[in-house]
Amino acid sequence: MDLARFPTFSLVHRPTPLEHLKHLSTALDGPKIYIKRDDCTGLAFGGNKSRKLEFLIGDALEKSATTIVTVGSMQSNHVRQTAAAAVKAGLKCELVLDWRVPWTQAAYGNSGNILLDRLLGATVHLCSRDEGRNDKADEVMAAIEARGEKGYFIPTGGSNAVGSLGYVDCAVEIMEQVKQQNIKVNHVVLASGSGGTQAGMMVGLAGAGSSISCIGIDIDHDPVSVRAEVAGIAAKTAELLGVCAQVEKAELELAEGYGAPEYGMPNPKTIDAINQLAQTEAIILDPVYTGKAMAGLIDMITKNRFGKDEAVVFVHTGGGPGLFAYSDIFENTP
Ligand SMILES: *Cc1c(COP(=O)(O)O)cnc(C)c1O
Repeated sequence: MDLARFPTFSLVHRPTPLEHLKHLSTALDGPKIYIKRDDCTGLAFGGNKSRKLEFLIGDALEKSATTIVTVGSMQSNHVRQTAAAAVKAGLKCELVLDWRVPWTQAAYGNSGNILLDRLLGATVHLCSRDEGRNDKADEVMAAIEARGEKGYFIPTGGSNAVGSLGYVDCAVEIMEQVKQQNIKVNHVVLASGSGGTQAGMMVGLAGAGSSISCIGIDIDHDPVSVRAEVAGIAAKTAELLGVCAQVEKAELELAEGYGAPEYGMPNPKTIDAINQLAQTEAIILDPVYTGKAMAGLIDMITKNRFGKDEAVVFVHTGGGPGLFAYSDIFENTP
């Protein structure tokens, strides 16, 4: 696997730490649990999208783009990291955001990620729930071209083959750390939404011939679509890297049942997981992605999905700023 031949723009503080979650491992009495701190990627409060953006912005600069355009929901972590990456790269940035999540707290529309998007100087286009945000982004792209500038469109979550290379890079980093720390790891567990993170991790592990498996947790409450997205992006990423044969043999594992009631809406187990990690490990999770993924990991451990002699790496994909848009949930905590 030769990642060095793709253009990149440096954004990530690497390597991010790989740490043992001692208290949680003891409390659950299952496998040894490690955490890969991709919430600490460093760019404007960090998160998984920064790794994807290293390759996406690298591609945009190579294509002489002047303006980055992307889409997402009001509290999108991807959108916030894209706005930050554009600042670092000296590019303009236009965002198309919608409020499709049925969460009505005022902070959802003016705090957390959206506050940071504005602070980072991005142009924000709001679109209604029924207006398609991709259609609106087409209009924004056309207006940029009409001004004689060059737009570069990044799809939802930065999830395409180029963006996924960022998680191939993360897989390589984890394998190096496992070796350096002289530990044994059997599984990597992560939140899967638009699919690029799981696709990249799968391709990275399988492409390197690792025996570590990758388990995605469906946070959209739509496992059929998420699985199809992951499979499609993984195939394209494998092709880009020339590792199709290895990746075809890898199993695509997506755990379901933890994403209810829908994207952007936590359930009671999500909130329990957020409280538990804060109070046992001082790890801050979020209600949209990592809280659901951690609730899934805890449930799988409780159901003896893993051996006690095994070790699992939970990838903390970030999302902390989104927590502030959901403060009403935690009014009665602890
Ligand atoms: C986007 C995101 C994910 C999911 O990554 P995908 O590549 O979209 O599947 C997980 N966690 C956080 C915090 C995210 O922002």
